[in-house]
Amino acid sequence: MLKAIIFGAPGAGKGTYATRLQAKLGVDVIAMGDIFREIVKEKSDLAAKVKGYMEKGSLVPDEVVVEVLKSHLAKISGGKGFILDGYPRTLDQAKKLDVITQIDVIMQLNVPDWIIIERLSTRRVCKNCGTIFNVKFLKPKVEGVCDKCGGPLYQRADDNPETIKNRLKVYQEQTAPLIEFYKEKKVPFIELETKTLDQPPEVMVDKLFAELKRLNFA
Ligand code: ADP
Repeated sequence: MLKAIIFGAPGAGKGTYATRLQAKLGVDVIAMGDIFREIVKEKSDLAAKVKGYMEKGSLVPDEVVVEVLKSHLAKISGGKGFILDGYPRTLDQAKKLDVITQIDVIMQLNVPDWIIIERLSTRRVCKNCGTIFNVKFLKPKVEGVCDKCGGPLYQRADDNPETIKNRLKVYQEQTAPLIEFYKEKKVPFIELETKTLDQPPEVMVDKLFAELKRLNFA
């Protein structure tokens, strides 16, 4: 049973690779951003609270995030592994996770800022199923339409230049230091570099899968 974190800046490819690994590995993916985007659609106090943070590209407060994580971990059927995408994002979140379970491996995606900015500003997401596309680098077969479910593609409200800048700052300040935290704990790392804009996801997914296999996690 694999317990993994896919780690990297916004736009590093976490969601794109995690969903592709999901089928190959037979694990669940817990994608915090997707979960919060669903929550925001509701009419609730929680939705109103979360919305403001997301729109600015700031982090939702730890106590909210931890409760949401716990409820999703509890839903994973027995014996099934998982990949966490977008959790933890702060030291406090990592420490809270540590009390709940031990992580086997971190898949760390290193991508330069210029690629991230270019990718995020041209990203499109399926409104229906959340599949990620890009109008330049990961085009859908039919413009504006999801290959998987036929749903409409949209641009996320936080994928605009101002908010992207803030998200990268938040990542550097609050999330990147977690690498040190897990290195100190001697959790194994798989590190992947992206150096070009046109890197097909399959190439990266195959590399991640091969490394997981080498470490006996697949
Ligand atoms: P990104 O492309 O920035 O990685 P996500 O879709 O993972 O975006 O997350 C979108 C937003 O959801 C974040 O900017 C933040 O407001 C909120 N969010 C997601 N995960 C967390 C978390 N672990 N802690 C706090 N806020 C989070």
